[in-house]
Amino acid sequence: MKVLLGFILLIVGLGLFAWWYILSRLRHFFRTTTSAQTKDSDMNHPQNMLECAYCGLHIPEQEAHQSGGKVYCCTKHLKAAHKIH
Ligand SMILES: [Zn+2]
Repeated sequence: MKVLLGFILLIVGLGLFAWWYILSRLRHFFRTTTSAQTKDSDMNHPQNMLECAYCGLHIPEQEAHQSGGKVYCCTKHLKAAHKIH
């Protein structure tokens, strides 16, 4: 009887260990998937692109040079456009 009890305890212990192991693996898996999804949503919402009034190049809003309601890709084009007009 004592052998059977020890055997049951061993099985329960192994079961608990397996359960803990699976849970920790799942938690790791979901954490990795969630961070990957965050990256994907960033890709789905790109930053606002603006068109250079001088050469027509599309540039991110943060890199754009704005002057007189118009957008330019660089200071060179901004100055060049002002020389023309
Ligand atoms: Zn330009």
